[in-house]
Amino acid sequence: MKKIVLLGPPGCGKGTQSKLLVEKDNFVQLSTGDLLRSETSDGNSDLGKKVKDLMESGELVPDDIVIDIIVKKVEEHKNENIVFDGFPRNLNQAEVLDSSLDNVSIKLDHAIFFEIDFKILEERINTRANETKDSEKRKDDNSKTLLNRIEVFKSSTLPIVGYYEEKGIISKINGMQMVNEVYAEITKIIC
Ligand code: ADP
Repeated sequence: MKKIVLLGPPGCGKGTQSKLLVEKDNFVQLSTGDLLRSETSDGNSDLGKKVKDLMESGELVPDDIVIDIIVKKVEEHKNENIVFDGFPRNLNQAEVLDSSLDNVSIKLDHAIFFEIDFKILEERINTRANETKDSEKRKDDNSKTLLNRIEVFKSSTLPIVGYYEEKGIISKINGMQMVNEVYAEITKIIC
């Protein structure tokens, strides 16, 4: 069973590719963004409100909260193919993921990094925001949040690429291609 991490800036297509892996290749998608949104959907607790505010501003949610959620899911799905989407987002999370997989005698097989042009990325995110019905629009899809999320990506998440390079499991792909071309590259790497 494969365990893979998809790495890339917000809006690069990680979610789309994860869904294809779920539909076609029998993967379980663990998206910390989705998990956090469902955990805070009632919006009642103080913690829930704090998490929502952080997500809406584009900042990272504290590691202990995210890690707690993901470690439970790893244990639940350890015998399945897992695609991690949006996790890890900083070096500490990458190290914790390794040790929690280690606890169940599993290793990450691949970390796939989506290389992308930041200008085009911004256009894609605006298109996504415009195509979504107002009632469904994610509150973090606005340009101020987007700019902050890209900055957070550069400062916190990019260093993970070097971490996985040292481990010899990184593959870089061109995230600017059509959805099916990106998918073809991913399947070549993981098969
Ligand atoms: P996208 O799919 O557009 O990249 P996500 O849905 O993954 O966005 O994430 C939305 C927000 O959720 C992030 O901006 C951040 O606030 C929070 N978040 C998601 N994953 C993590 C994580 N691993 N660590 C900390 N915060 C996270």
